[in-house]
Amino acid sequence: MTAKRRVLVVGAGIAGAVTANNLVRYGLDVTVVEPSEHHVYQPGLVDYLMGEARTDEIIRPVESVLNKGVKLVRDKAVKVDLKGRKVMTSGGKELSYDYLVLAPGVVNKGSPSWHTLNEIDQIRKSLDATDPKRIVISYKLPVKCPAAPFEIASLIKLTKPKSEVTLLVPVKEPPPLQRKISQTLAESASRLGVKVVRGAEVQEINSENKVVKTSEGSYEYDLLLFDHPISAPPEFADVAVDKGFVPVDRETLRVKGYPEVFAVGDVNNIASPPKNGAAAHFQAMTAVSQILAETLGNAEAERYKGQAMCAVYAGDKGAFVFMNDEGSYVYPPSPLWRTMKRAFTDLYWATLSGGVDSMFNTLSKYFSKRVEPVKPGQQ
Ligand SMILES: Cc1cc2nc3c(=O)[nH]c(=O)nc-3n(C[C@H](O)[C@H](O)[C@H](O)COP(=O)(O)OP(=O)(O)OC[C@H]3O[C@@H](n4cnc5c(N)ncnc54)[C@H](O)[C@@H]3O)c2cc1C
Repeated sequence: MTAKRRVLVVGAGIAGAVTANNLVRYGLDVTVVEPSEHHVYQPGLVDYLMGEARTDEIIRPVESVLNKGVKLVRDKAVKVDLKGRKVMTSGGKELSYDYLVLAPGVVNKGSPSWHTLNEIDQIRKSLDATDPKRIVISYKLPVKCPAAPFEIASLIKLTKPKSEVTLLVPVKEPPPLQRKISQTLAESASRLGVKVVRGAEVQEINSENKVVKTSEGSYEYDLLLFDHPISAPPEFADVAVDKGFVPVDRETLRVKGYPEVFAVGDVNNIASPPKNGAAAHFQAMTAVSQILAETLGNAEAERYKGQAMCAVYAGDKGAFVFMNDEGSYVYPPSPLWRTMKRAFTDLYWATLSGGVDSMFNTLSKYFSKRVEPVKPGQQ
């Protein structure tokens, strides 16, 4: 009898959990290395900021998001030795593998941003304590979930209608694939009274005088929310050699030069679609399919075609976007999508088990036929 193939997954976020949970069901020997005690549903941070979700709705113990049979090493990967096929941990372990799946997400290159519960708690306190009149929201690319700044601006304006909320968007024109959803979100925010300024790239933040200087002028603020650019966590610097991200073949998610190594989710160098949870999920499904086709040999390996989909807050309503390599499809704002967005907080936990992947595939096929195409290479 041949030995079980050993798969080492780094990170138990969306991409890592979906990968591990699917592979263990097919009898592979799956180990996840993850330092954190908790898995955070990051889109729910926006709801938590607005007081619409409790921490126990958006945070669960890591053990609870991993299927039975997945081995968890509660430790931090500190070095990846691709040639020697091993990963070293901060606790001194050397973990070897037949397949390696890197899914450690990203970190901000500055703080505070809005990616962690601590940061969101700080923002909540600032919003409650000082009742700021002029609130400026901005970010520097690359970011994850480019819809989040629009959502945050609109939701703050909804709860503080008397405050002046300004959203500084660093690019004049979003990439063609994101244009429709970006316009939808900007129009919805503007209707509420949010001032959306496009092409305002932040050049300098003077926190003493509370002024942010941009290519489109200077803006005074009482409260500034600024999302710093992202890159792979520093432990992966040796492999994150494409502008801070791990270079992969975009269809197979295999790391260039190392076919037994995959990088899925925010950490890889795929920039279109923009980094988001659904893309991380679809990429994990692809890596699983690639590994199973090779180890079990009973199915054709799927390829990643740039799928992502998401319900987002749009002003006082919600919208839905699907995108892939061909184009995008946007459902215009409606109260239904707002409810769906909120309801996804519960559904999310079930998606991590891999149990609803067939639904993801069905939705992907459905929307793929409806996308408004963009020209190849213009995504
Ligand atoms: C405010 C906000 C709103 C968002 N809204 C949406 C939305 O509406 N829709 C959407 O689709 N996406 C949204 N996103 C983006 C989405 O949450 C991310 O794209 C997604 O979580 C990426 O998944 P991932 O598995 O790549 O990384 P993550 O989910 O970040 O997981 C990475 C995991 O790796 C672990 N890790 C890190 N370093 C190491 C190490 N050295 N060793 C071992 N493990 C490590 C981390 O602890 C973490 O558990 C939002 C994000 C934010 C911050």
